[in-house]
Amino acid sequence: MSKLTDPQKASSVEILQDLVRIDSTNESRERSNERRAEERIIAHLAGLCRRMGMSVDLHEVWPGRSNLTAHWPDQQGARSVAFQAHVDTVGVGGMTIEPFCGDVRDGKLWGRGSCDAKGSLATFLSALRIARERGGRFADKIHLIATIGEETGCQGATALMESGFRVDACVVGEPTRCELVTAHKGALWFKLIANGVASHTAMPDQGRNAIYAMGRAIGFVEQQFAPSLAERTHPLLGTPTVAVSMVSGGRAINIVAPRCEASVDCRFLPGQRYEDVARDFKRRLEAALPGDADAFELAEIEGHAAMEADPDGPLVRNLLAGCRDLTGQNDPKGVFYFADSGPFSQAGIQCVLFGPGDIAHAHKAEEFLELDQYFLAIETTLYWLDRHADRSMLA
Ligand SMILES: [Zn+2]
Repeated sequence: MSKLTDPQKASSVEILQDLVRIDSTNESRERSNERRAEERIIAHLAGLCRRMGMSVDLHEVWPGRSNLTAHWPDQQGARSVAFQAHVDTVGVGGMTIEPFCGDVRDGKLWGRGSCDAKGSLATFLSALRIARERGGRFADKIHLIATIGEETGCQGATALMESGFRVDACVVGEPTRCELVTAHKGALWFKLIANGVASHTAMPDQGRNAIYAMGRAIGFVEQQFAPSLAERTHPLLGTPTVAVSMVSGGRAINIVAPRCEASVDCRFLPGQRYEDVARDFKRRLEAALPGDADAFELAEIEGHAAMEADPDGPLVRNLLAGCRDLTGQNDPKGVFYFADSGPFSQAGIQCVLFGPGDIAHAHKAEEFLELDQYFLAIETTLYWLDRHADRSMLA
């Protein structure tokens, strides 16, 4: 196996520091469109890829917000494999360290995005650069993909798929502690709205209290819908889950509430579609609360696809063999969060998740990446590339 040299480690740290020091926070689609949130980091990446001899394409999603794809124009491979990560990060509110410092301290690199997911992006950049410097022969056509807008719901990846861009397989960079992840859950988000009738609270029987209806609906979610989800199970992901995460309603202390809203988040399994989960929720709710049936509506329905790679297919087999040699991982893993792999796999691209760092350190007041993890991820990626100089990862 190929251990990194000290100069290779130093230049890899520099690549990650440069990425962390560029603010690419993305808290809401509207604000990020105004701020052109990822423009600077994508321009920086484009320069880096071109200096590595790659040809770069920018795929604009909104003005100033473009996905980037890059490949070497002299590549011959019949099949294409991409290494991908998102460039946007969550916001920096409440952080207790300087968010864009990129400092190295205690064997860790600190700053927003160091773990989620600039560490993965820098991993792939570093590995590709080192592999190319060593002569860079790959059986597959290798692509690098950097997407925008992941943290607000994978809009960059979705737009890239809508543009028709395709590869055969993709390693999606997320902090998996350098474990190969072959399945993740999907998410269904919606607002449950209870409609009532306002009246003076001194004469509550003249109105219809939307908060009471919502109370019954929340009881249904906890006592009936959640157990119904648990009838299904997946070997790596367990059962689907549901959570009511926000509630608001009512107008004044002396008015019977005419309206109440709750945010509902369902996490479902590969093979399920968010539309079907939403329909099932509505049907069961109406059956459970026939007296309230006409009071409820589902609004702002949003779905994020689940993902599962064929555990016995060549991609998983080949990459897992590399992990086994380097880290001792024997079996594929599953994670509960969704990622850009959702829209990619829906478009027919075989995906796995892999990257340095722990998801538990993402989105935190103190975000960091352990350098040991970072170097291990680069070495693993290099190992994959070396093993597949002559034989496709998909054969
Ligand atoms: Zn991420």
